[in-house]
Amino acid sequence: MPARLTLDDLAAIACAPPTATPAELASQLGKPATLVGRQLRRMRRAGGWYFVPRLPPCTVCGETVVGPPRRTTHVGCVPARQARWVPNKRARRKADSTPDALAEQRAHERAAALRTYRSLSSERRAAFNVAPARGGLYRERAP
Ligand SMILES: [Zn+2]
Repeated sequence: MPARLTLDDLAAIACAPPTATPAELASQLGKPATLVGRQLRRMRRAGGWYFVPRLPPCTVCGETVVGPPRRTTHVGCVPARQARWVPNKRARRKADSTPDALAEQRAHERAAALRTYRSLSSERRAAFNVAPARGGLYRERAP
């Protein structure tokens, strides 16, 4: 993850004396000198505290998102975004994969399902071992 300046870092940069160099500030803050230097130049050019407010539109509803940086979706809109993206992602992965990779993926998913099935209690397993036509979900095969 790239280094980011926190609000405390920005405050320290804004309060720095005019003789402070980016390297000194960067070593004090423990952040990269290029990042600190860029912010220091912006603040000196603007004459004080400086940041660009970002208010991106929500990727689902289009309303402005106010919140932490990088948030592009309202918390309430996240389920709708996932409902839209998960099937797309699954279809894309399926289209991009080779038949061998798909077979390997199916084997992996089947092994995980079998592990889950074998961890179930005998009563819950019995519910699976009924034919699908009679309301059951799964019939265990001999391995
Ligand atoms: Zn939204």
